[in-house]
Amino acid sequence: MYEKLSFLPEPTPDASGAHYLPFKEAPKARDVVRCAECHKPRVVHSPSKTDREQDALLRRMKEENLYVCGDPMADDSGLVTLRASNCTSDVEIAYYSSGFSKVVPPVCCYCGTEDELLDDNYVYIQDMYTKFSKVRPLCKLCHGNGRVAKTWGKKFIKKRRIWND
Ligand SMILES: [Zn+2]
Ligand SMILES: [Zn+2]
Repeated sequence: MYEKLSFLPEPTPDASGAHYLPFKEAPKARDVVRCAECHKPRVVHSPSKTDREQDALLRRMKEENLYVCGDPMADDSGLVTLRASNCTSDVEIAYYSSGFSKVVPPVCCYCGTEDELLDDNYVYIQDMYTKFSKVRPLCKLCHGNGRVAKTWGKKFIKKRRIWND
């Protein structure tokens, strides 16, 4: 299955929230470009920290606003985006990885908007946090359209106390 993928599969978060990466020089999330059509942020990966040339390329891409989901990055740029993604793909997991999520704004995991995100005090989100350690941002519109929160790190609630009662 691996050889059919043009890029790494999304890292699978394990119980600790750390990501398992199967390759030695796994590209890490470095920057974000927004799609000119669906406006979702798409993560740009690179094995090493971006250099001046790469930064210039990214700046130009953002200014020109010509990037569309699924576009490959220039072959010799050393940068990659998920080729499999298209405008219907959700925001990729890497956007929410622990280091990267500190440098990018929270966005809805479905539509990529920064606006009208349900906050942690919203009853539905609060309820999710009682069952899961992480809940990805979800906007009012997507929630209203029946989308459910993406979660990970299921909390195991000890039942023994109840049985002992
Ligand atoms: Zn798009
Ligand atoms: Zn949304």
